Amino acid sequence: MKTSRSQKSEVRSQIFLFSVFCFLFSALCGCQNQRLYKETQVMMGTFVQVTSPEKSAAGIVFSEIKRIEDLLSKYNPDSEVSRLNKLGKLKVSPDTFYIIKKSKEFCEISDGAFDISVGPLVDLWGFTAQNYSIPKDEKIKNTLNLIGCDKIILKYNDNVVEFKTSGTKIDLGAIAKGYALDCAVNKLKERGIKNCLINAGGQVYALGEKFGLPWKVAIRNPRSLRLGEILALKDRSISTSGDYEQYFIKGNLRFCHILNPKTGYPADSGIVSVTVIAPSGLTADALSTAIFVLGKGKGIALAKKFPGTEVRIIEKKDVQNNR
Ligand code: ADP
Ligand code: MG
Repeated sequence: MKTSRSQKSEVRSQIFLFSVFCFLFSALCGCQNQRLYKETQVMMGTFVQVTSPEKSAAGIVFSEIKRIEDLLSKYNPDSEVSRLNKLGKLKVSPDTFYIIKKSKEFCEISDGAFDISVGPLVDLWGFTAQNYSIPKDEKIKNTLNLIGCDKIILKYNDNVVEFKTSGTKIDLGAIAKGYALDCAVNKLKERGIKNCLINAGGQVYALGEKFGLPWKVAIRNPRSLRLGEILALKDRSISTSGDYEQYFIKGNLRFCHILNPKTGYPADSGIVSVTVIAPSGLTADALSTAIFVLGKGKGIALAKKFPGTEVRIIEKKDVQNNR
């Protein structure tokens, strides 16, 4: 059957009108769906903010972070880490065993720059109790005898962790937040949630996208509250370690909470802040601390060993007020 020219143009205009209708309808539905739920809770000593188009995301994230915090926090006397530090030997959960094992690997690969056995040094400088003081050289020297990843023994057959020296203590402050984010993201994926941004005080995981585009996260300027470079992230974590997070000033000098496990003094590698972008929170967190201790050259060389990782470093010479 042949269709006349006018019939054809009528069909064409009907198709056009239908397309316009479909476009407007989907745009309208899209607008209605373009809602983000945002919730914040204080956890792991910081504000944890969850942003997602899924209402249930925040609850899933908070309960998983709480589970990990209950195992690893040195501020909770009942946590596995506190009990291990007190007893010097403990059979621990698979999560605690795994994070200690990964910490030992980071210690080795960073040539001891990242070392969770810095616990006694962190206490000595007053960073645990926030009662800061510069310890005597002699005290630092004695405390260094307790430090070293080789002091942490892992018994793989029964998940037992044991310290070689009495007085050794672990502090997971440089890796626990990253691991907690990874666990939370795994839980979200298990529940079918594909898009979510978790920000735990500068330690971020961007799962999936924000309405079809990567999530946008700004890096903080280390010497002011202004925001710096904006990063577009999808299925990536970022972690920043800086000398401005926790520090004290004495005699015009800044003493920060990231310590050099070799010297026993706060790291002084010329870095003010280092941001690592990595596929996992654990890697981003541990690497940012390690690079802060190692300095720019060795730090970048270390990051190259981790595929899919990017680094942004701000050095003292890059900022005006470098005290
Ligand atoms: P933030 O906690 O501000 O995110 P980091 O991830 O760099 O910063 O962790 C710093 C914390 O890690 C310190 O407060 C301390 O508890 C612990 N720490 C300090 N120095 C080291 C180190 N060289 N290796 C591993 N952990 C460290
Ligand atoms: Mg860290």
